[in-house]
Amino acid sequence: MKPFLHFLFFQKKNMAGDIDWTLCVICQKEGGDLKCPTSWFGQTAARKLQVFETFHTNLHRLWDAGIIVDTKLPKHITAKTLFDNNAKWHKECHLSFATSKVEKRLKAHKKKTTRGTTCSDATSKKTT
Ligand SMILES: [Zn+2]
Repeated sequence: MKPFLHFLFFQKKNMAGDIDWTLCVICQKEGGDLKCPTSWFGQTAARKLQVFETFHTNLHRLWDAGIIVDTKLPKHITAKTLFDNNAKWHKECHLSFATSKVEKRLKAHKKKTTRGTTCSDATSKKTT
């Protein structure tokens, strides 16, 4: 096998290997009432995919900000993969990734980091 092909194979194998699609994709815990956006009656595929895209975008906004997210999802997972695997989640789990909730968390986090930077700036000024 060529190294490049091997890389692809490895990537593919890794894609969804750790996720149990029969469980909530966010917490991977058993039990509870699972909601599956792909089984929504009367919704177009595009609309369903959009639900995963919004979730995916919000998840990455948290990750990018360095916020610890309570999820078992690997970072390389895509919205399309979630969609293709009919990802399910607990209503409560998904709620914490609603755009308004995520924005609140980002705001709170920014406040914290800004304070942290000012503090280290003061110390570096002292030493120079
Ligand atoms: Zn859950």
